[in-house]
Amino acid sequence: MKGPIHLLVLGKEGVGKTALVVRFLTKRYLSEYAQTEEAIYERSLSVDERNTALRITDISGKDVERKAANKEILNKVDGVIVVYSIIDRHSFDVAKNIVHWLQRERRPAPVIPVLLLGNKCDLGHRRVVESPGLDSPDWQESDAFLRFECSACDDVDGVDDVFTKFIRKVSTVMGFLHKL
Ligand code: GDP
Ligand code: MG
Repeated sequence: MKGPIHLLVLGKEGVGKTALVVRFLTKRYLSEYAQTEEAIYERSLSVDERNTALRITDISGKDVERKAANKEILNKVDGVIVVYSIIDRHSFDVAKNIVHWLQRERRPAPVIPVLLLGNKCDLGHRRVVESPGLDSPDWQESDAFLRFECSACDDVDGVDDVFTKFIRKVSTVMGFLHKL
């Protein structure tokens, strides 16, 4: 068994963090989710035909601002998923700040893989954040940075695909670090 791989999910309240995690782990969409302070999900699942143990920590929106608490957890996680909503410009600003904060906090420690994930793609007619690729060039694609969009509510395969790509990336980085 590989892992456990520990992922942390951050982002403004209401962007769909819990919906995404629940969708990925259970394939179900509930539409209303409890606003718990912090939820930890532990599952093992098959990634590229390898049994992989996964722990996902889902922190409520309020906690994101409590940087001290998050700073501590940063040293324990292998990858961070930063979620925003494509229909909420402010949530994208929050997400950018978190990504910059992550890049600062981890220096000079080894780089932590980050997935910047735009959710609620089903609401394309209300989009206010541009699609990846068309947006600002300051988002440097790097070995440890991925950016995708998906919809927790109507695209189970898309969510699965994005999470799987990120888990693959995280295990590659982890394997690489272990070899050092
Ligand atoms: P969190 O605070 O980031 O954990 O957000 P939640 O998972 O609680 O979701 C907040 C609200 O957004 C809920 O009413 C969800 O039903 C809704 N939501 C989540 N994902 C999507 C999505 O992909 N599309 C749409 N239309 N609504 C979504
Ligand atoms: Mg939540």
